[in-house]
Amino acid sequence: MENGQKSNVMKVYSRSPIEMKRGEGVYLYDKNNKKYLDFAAGIAVNSLGHGHPHLINALKKQMDEVIHVSNMYTFAGQEKMAKRLADISFADYVFFCSTGVESVETGLKMMRAYHDETGNANKYRVITIEGAFHGRSMATISASAKESCLKGYLPAMDGFDNVPFNDIEAVKNAICDDTAGILLEPVQGEGGIRVNSKEYLSEVRKICDENGLLLMFDEVQCGIGRLGKFFAYEYFGVVPDIISIAKGIGAGFPLGCCLATANACSGMKAGSHGSTFGGNPLAMAAGNAVLDIINQHEFLGHVQGISDFFRQELDALQNRHPEFIFDVRGLGLMLGVRVNTEIREFVGKLRENGLLTVPAGTDIVRILPPLTITKEDVKEAIDIFEKTIQES
Ligand SMILES: *Cc1c(COP(=O)(O)O)cnc(C)c1O
Repeated sequence: MENGQKSNVMKVYSRSPIEMKRGEGVYLYDKNNKKYLDFAAGIAVNSLGHGHPHLINALKKQMDEVIHVSNMYTFAGQEKMAKRLADISFADYVFFCSTGVESVETGLKMMRAYHDETGNANKYRVITIEGAFHGRSMATISASAKESCLKGYLPAMDGFDNVPFNDIEAVKNAICDDTAGILLEPVQGEGGIRVNSKEYLSEVRKICDENGLLLMFDEVQCGIGRLGKFFAYEYFGVVPDIISIAKGIGAGFPLGCCLATANACSGMKAGSHGSTFGGNPLAMAAGNAVLDIINQHEFLGHVQGISDFFRQELDALQNRHPEFIFDVRGLGLMLGVRVNTEIREFVGKLRENGLLTVPAGTDIVRILPPLTITKEDVKEAIDIFEKTIQES
């Protein structure tokens, strides 16, 4: 913290001392009124940028009516959002919670409950993928099996078989009598913007069908318009049984959802699962407002168009600096740039120059802008990126 003050916030983040004060559109301003082009978007959360009037009005209106009621009661906003999500997806049912990790945890419990319900209580193991990130609960750090997330928290929970990325033989070999399902991110976020192939994902689907396994996609980061389709699975043309979403669906309001087919959630019975805050009126006001905007053909077309433009600009930047940029990767507005330098330091320099991004892996600059960005914003980002390369 500045002025040598002691912070009482638990030291689990290595955070920058910069204090962000307000947001407007694609910009954040710190307390000294320095302006930052926000291409991190709260790690894919601020899907509509900052201060979007439709979101703000929806929240204000709901706040005047009622902020919270318990899931003991029915209310219209929740019914409406569940129906909308079901109508636009493969899913029949939606469970509402407040975070990504809860939405993944719900899917993991659902897999066990499904096999228990269908007379195969022995099936509890879930195949997961190397490099995955599914959140910070005991189950999800065990699922992703990443050493850096597990350190200090051992032993990991039993029940996960972690296999190499995009490797179909490894998936086949990992299946045993006790396998319940497969959990994966169609595009890995924290793992460094790694994109699975369509062929791999459709093979995984086939393997699940042949072996009676449930397929779950973690779309917490790559869903909600980020790939230019509302859901990431639509981009790949592979339909899972369960998906977890969060981050962009609340556009800044904490909201997670777990969507499933009636079959996949047949084991989820009254009293068997729940969440105090999940899907409360304010969260549903935010979620419905996000659906109003992002689930529009025109809006998703904008994401696709701006993504193509961004990609061209990044490829051109790489051509101008091939010694510095090794790789440009990703889909939609979930882009990664592999750079020839210490990643945290470089992301810090970009920030000093007024561009916010997120580090991933050991050498990836992760770019997750609001979905509302324009070509001008992209050009500004490229200029700052280039200036920072020249200074490095
Ligand atoms: C961020 C993230 C999570 C965890 O979400 P939280 O809201 O932090 O619990 C899970 N899965 C993926 C793919 C994520 O990017």
